Amino acid sequence: MANFQTHLTVAAAGSMTATAVCVQTGIVSHPEALLLLSLGTMAGILPDIDSDHSVPTRLVFNIISFAVATAALFALQGKVHLVYILGISLLSALFVRYIVYALFAGITEHRGLFHSLPAALLFGLTTVSVGIHVLGWHLDFAWLAAAFVCGGYLLHLMLDEMYSVNFMDSTLKQSFGSALTLFNRSSWVSYLLLYAVVGAGFYLLPTPKGWISL
Ligand SMILES: [Zn+2]
Repeated sequence: MANFQTHLTVAAAGSMTATAVCVQTGIVSHPEALLLLSLGTMAGILPDIDSDHSVPTRLVFNIISFAVATAALFALQGKVHLVYILGISLLSALFVRYIVYALFAGITEHRGLFHSLPAALLFGLTTVSVGIHVLGWHLDFAWLAAAFVCGGYLLHLMLDEMYSVNFMDSTLKQSFGSALTLFNRSSWVSYLLLYAVVGAGFYLLPTPKGWISL
């Protein structure tokens, strides 16, 4: 499989090209382009969060811990004494970083569900949902951001598959076919659930309207 550095470089190069096209055609502003570039690049390392103790996993859990602590800080502000607020924020951050992380590492299998096409779609749909409901993005921009996340994610999966081919003697390594998975019978329940969530996401989320005029 490709290493962290390769994934990061390829995702950044791919996102930069796509961002340049978006800027040239005038569909995004420069700050928006920077955001899309960051999203696409980060998505390029996202699938490896199923690899316990990898750089992306630690990075993602550090960010989530920080977000949870900040959320607790704001939610409790003015309701209890400052010492309690700080204590609860710290404890919730530690809980996510160590307990939730350990649980997540225990149930995920490297190159399992996260290395699949429906997982790429799920992260894309999550981007749309968070973008319009939490960050207040314009609908069209939220879908464009989702396309960057999906694109970066798929680049990762394709790179993993490419690295499964031994170019010197044209043989396939054992890992071939384990990155760009569509369905896996041994974990069919998880896949069915994943497809159900993706289907519901496509059904429930509003579709972009502005793209018709592009
Ligand atoms: Zn991978």
